[in-house]
Amino acid sequence: MPLYKTKAIVLKSQRWGEADRIVTLYSENVGKVRGIARGARRMKSRFGSALEPFRLIDVTLFEKNAESLASVSQADITESFGILRENLALMTAAARMVNVIQALTPDRDPNPDIFQALIDGLSSLESESDSELCALLFQIHILGHTGFRPQIDHCAECGTYTGMVKVTFSPQSGGIICGSCRDRTFDRGFSISPGSLAFIQQARRLPFHKVTRLRAAGQVRQEVEQTIDAYVRVVAGKALPAVNFTITEKLSS
Ligand SMILES: [Zn+2]
Repeated sequence: MPLYKTKAIVLKSQRWGEADRIVTLYSENVGKVRGIARGARRMKSRFGSALEPFRLIDVTLFEKNAESLASVSQADITESFGILRENLALMTAAARMVNVIQALTPDRDPNPDIFQALIDGLSSLESESDSELCALLFQIHILGHTGFRPQIDHCAECGTYTGMVKVTFSPQSGGIICGSCRDRTFDRGFSISPGSLAFIQQARRLPFHKVTRLRAAGQVRQEVEQTIDAYVRVVAGKALPAVNFTITEKLSS
């Protein structure tokens, strides 16, 4: 029976049966993995509060085979990120981060860059005042690591180089499209300015710890938020879970 010891961030934690929990983790060594923690909700559980969302933990997982749910045999908190649970704006931003990882990463496909970006992303929320912007930058950054990188300097349909001009962004096509492809496909998309494209490009290229220095306001901020939100919805195949004030209940119900 394979055994893994790994660091992991708790993406989601759900009640299961009388006393158990099913958790979704993004781990350093195994990537995204679901596991069952038996007895996790008993008063004297050995897991304590380690299996709550956003925790960075050291975890031990057993599994019979790759298809079955892993069994969590031990979990200890390395970093609790407790502040992310104390404030609605921080909780919302942290939920957007874990949701995008949950929606866009394949199971059991470890990626050290994504794992580190997730830790850096949650850490950045502790110190940055604009948590919404942090979450947005995180989403752009993660798209670049998942094979869902939006096409922003060539037409996503015909490959024509467009340069940084005002163009149409089409989530269904996977990025910007040129005028003739827009007319040919009747894709309405929405227009996006050179400033917004440049912002997305920078956010994608910089390492995450530098990304958080980027600032966006006014039209650029609005356009980038709209673009990334629409794009993530399309590539995730469905809308991401609603992020609102009941999020902790949903994440750790
Ligand atoms: Zn084209």
